[in-house]
Amino acid sequence: MDSVKKDLGIRPVFLKDYIGQEEIKEKVRIFLEASKKKGKVLDHILLSGPPGLGKTTLASVIANELGVNLKITSGNVLDKKGDLAGILTSLEEGDILFIDEIHRLNPSVEETLYPALEDFKIDIILGKGKSARSIRIDLKPFTLVGATTRTGLLTSPLLSRFGIVLNFDYYDTVSLKEVIFRTASILEADIDDQSAEEIARRSRGTPRIANNLLKRVYDYALIKSDGKISYSIAVEALEFLGIDEYGLDSRDRKYLEILVYKFNSKPVGLNTIASALNEDKGTIEDIIEPYLIRIGMIERTPRGRVPTQKAIEHIL
Ligand code: ADP
Repeated sequence: MDSVKKDLGIRPVFLKDYIGQEEIKEKVRIFLEASKKKGKVLDHILLSGPPGLGKTTLASVIANELGVNLKITSGNVLDKKGDLAGILTSLEEGDILFIDEIHRLNPSVEETLYPALEDFKIDIILGKGKSARSIRIDLKPFTLVGATTRTGLLTSPLLSRFGIVLNFDYYDTVSLKEVIFRTASILEADIDDQSAEEIARRSRGTPRIANNLLKRVYDYALIKSDGKISYSIAVEALEFLGIDEYGLDSRDRKYLEILVYKFNSKPVGLNTIASALNEDKGTIEDIIEPYLIRIGMIERTPRGRVPTQKAIEHIL
């Protein structure tokens, strides 16, 4: 389908297409050049930050820049040592293995990974019971790119095996506007400056959200108007989607309402919020709260989460 092809084209391919995150890009450029100059594989890299900020994209950009293969997996999928061994032995020299949510690896798989990262070797147990024996297999040198929403959840032996740690921060409106214009041109959507700015401002500092909002606003413009994204259509569409002027959606607002109305703006613990909101704790800690903290709507205190005056005024 045409729209599927267009969707694939949205992800930046090379560093020059990767918008914002200047510090990260500069570091990546230097380490890529250095590894080429030394003729050695790139050191293992940990990418840390909230979802949708471009960690997977950066891993694929690095693979493209180096002209190597990229294998993608996730910490919660890799639950057997054998699966990891299968992937590791299939890697060619210099290939990139991307493990998303690396903090979710189970401990035995994680232990198998240590010698692979350090010495490019793995130990495999053949057979069972008395006849079981361990053999050591040499791997081709590769680069692990791990991604996590929370570095604090990584064990220290795993953390220490990454030579490069890159921390992602939310994007500013200028960068998000650039993401929106780039995606709009790929989708052949007509959008003016003021509309792009409005969508950017409401995208919670996150390119994935910016792209999703753009696509939905474009749909709205196609059906309610002539397909052109004007400022009035953009604002109408964003309101229709339930995205307010801070970029908060109904789930964020419900979170704030719980703090303010249900608990009278007194400190509330994560477990209590999770059950009142009917969301899992991970979603609250990784997705909902970081942005609310960032825009000064809530504070995390030792006694629990409290809404700020800004949040109270916003939802009144
Ligand atoms: P993460 O792995 O951190 O959850 P992704 O790499 O999947 O995030 O990014 C989400 C989407 O946002 C991608 O499909 C890509 O189109 C877009 N994106 C992310 N970072 C950038 C960037 N720096 N420039 C342009 N688009 C980006």
